[in-house]
Amino acid sequence: MINKLKIMMGDKLTENADMSRYTSFRAGGCARALIEVATTEELKAVLQLVTEENIPHMVIGNGSNMLFKDSGYDGIVIKLSQQGFDYVNFGENNTVSAGTAVANGVLAKMLQREGLAGFEFASGIPGSLGGAVFMNAGAYGGEMKDIVKSVKTISPDGQEERIFTAEEMDFGYRHSCLEENGYIAVEVTMELEKGDREEIAARMKELMEKRNSKQPVNYPSAGSTFKRPEGYFAGKLIEDAGLKGLTVGGAQVSTLHSGFVINIGGATATDILQLMALVQNTVYDKFGVMLEPEVRIIG
Ligand SMILES: Cc1cc2nc3c(=O)[nH]c(=O)nc-3n(C[C@H](O)[C@H](O)[C@H](O)COP(=O)(O)OP(=O)(O)OC[C@H]3O[C@@H](n4cnc5c(N)ncnc54)[C@H](O)[C@@H]3O)c2cc1C
Repeated sequence: MINKLKIMMGDKLTENADMSRYTSFRAGGCARALIEVATTEELKAVLQLVTEENIPHMVIGNGSNMLFKDSGYDGIVIKLSQQGFDYVNFGENNTVSAGTAVANGVLAKMLQREGLAGFEFASGIPGSLGGAVFMNAGAYGGEMKDIVKSVKTISPDGQEERIFTAEEMDFGYRHSCLEENGYIAVEVTMELEKGDREEIAARMKELMEKRNSKQPVNYPSAGSTFKRPEGYFAGKLIEDAGLKGLTVGGAQVSTLHSGFVINIGGATATDILQLMALVQNTVYDKFGVMLEPEVRIIG
């Protein structure tokens, strides 16, 4: 099924890719293949071929919000390479355009050095700019929606280049239109504000300290496991249901922050999914609230 892709991509294609190595949960099964693309042309060519050959495919950023089931994914995972999609170009009027493989933390430092404010909220979100824009990632009162001007994308069949305005992105809570239309973000243009370098650095430091003291950052996880249900906090509901520290195999409801399921060592994706189901059912039985996963489950 993937012979033509192998010929096209050579050593940029890894067969039976162990997705626990590409995801922050450090758990889960294999994908049929993983392909790293370094240019838009390469991305288009891969998308055109997988479309022609009817091969299931998906895109991954830094894998910090994903869990592949132990049974694996019988398709192609496409990763935009940091050698190619990690550029950052400063424009006029406090705008910046960056490739979507650039890591949020790296971009935040570059913007700080440039004296551009507004991205501090994202400096500690452990993912790529592509994942952040897809998810409308947010923290500490900020979200991507506040700063994105436009997103350059490639259509899922690799035929069309399209720029979505911020309005067309249809950002909502942990949502953008890319979830429905499958377009792949290759570049994001953001509009920031002139700021004081030291103040920006201080804000980033303050947020990082908050994050490190409140979140189980020393264990593999995918961040908040569940979305915030309207009118509630997932972590509080889970804690009030008496589930703090609940463990299934190597998966545990963090004792530091009940909103995080963590991998305390050797967790399988099945452990994590069983624990998530247990949490959902218990919280539903006690409070009548059905928690919806924020982590994207593949396979
Ligand atoms: C310790 C920890 C703390 C976290 N804290 C936060 C937080 O404060 N706020 C928050 O919002 N999230 C948080 N997260 C979750 C996660 O970091 C974010 O959702 C992040 O934006 C995901 O980016 P990624 O590059 O890792 O995307 P991935 O996990 O690789 O992908 C997420 C989704 O985006 C899609 N995608 C990725 N790249 C592209 C692209 N270029 N084009 C189209 N689709 C794409 C994927 O197909 C997938 O559906 C945290 C995670 C961890 C592990």
